[in-house]
Amino acid sequence: MTETTEQHRAAANVDQAELAKFQALASRWWDPNSEFRPLHEINPLRLAWIDRLAPLAGKRVVDVGCGGGILAEAMAGLGAQVTGIDLAEKPLRVAELHGLESGVKVRYERISAEDIAAREPGAFDVVTCMEMLEHVPDPASTVRACARLVRPGGTVFFSTINRNPKAFLLAIVGAEYVLNLLPRGTHAFEKFIKPSELNGYARSNGLEPLQMQGMTYNPLTRQFRLSERDVSVNYLLATRKAG
Ligand code: SAH
Repeated sequence: MTETTEQHRAAANVDQAELAKFQALASRWWDPNSEFRPLHEINPLRLAWIDRLAPLAGKRVVDVGCGGGILAEAMAGLGAQVTGIDLAEKPLRVAELHGLESGVKVRYERISAEDIAAREPGAFDVVTCMEMLEHVPDPASTVRACARLVRPGGTVFFSTINRNPKAFLLAIVGAEYVLNLLPRGTHAFEKFIKPSELNGYARSNGLEPLQMQGMTYNPLTRQFRLSERDVSVNYLLATRKAG
């Protein structure tokens, strides 16, 4: 395949309707009681888990699909040198403004994972790609780009939603229609990704699965927690690039 064809294909790994949803809500990104409340609530959990597996101080990190920068800023707060990328313009603007207020420095750029991977292969110690794969047309291509971005021996973290009847019930019916945690239409069931599929995409791109964690939500206590055993709905995967 020629470079031009590959670039053309990479440029197409975006669903404009998906970006439009995040554009429309961007101004509320840092409101902890907004549509983004779940991201605020899960942030300390995922941050601690990432920092435990790949201590962030001094690391070069790229956060793929960073949105308004909730995780990107938190990682920079722990001393990482963070680049946040996304294809939606407004969330990036919001992220930049928030950084000015908080004084936490992150470099934000509107670029696809595939394009930054072609430009800066192996440039990062850590890659994070959270709650994003279920919004792209070709998640395998995004995983490939993440594998290309990380240096040999570096760590890549993903999170997404499993695909099974329970996940449909909890992540769509429960979260969007019963508990109103997320706006209706946030997620499409057919885009959910089974852990076996994500492990497969990782392995075929030289990323060795290290650890998987489920993330469960208790509607009574309204609390999220990480779980070693229950990956039936939301889950996170840590992988390491050989090297
Ligand atoms: N990762 C962040 C935000 C998750 S919301 C967090 O967990 O806190 C999903 C983000 O993915 C949105 O900001 C959306 O604009 C972005 N996104 C969707 N499709 C994308 C694509 N093809 N390339 C880059 N970012 C994309």
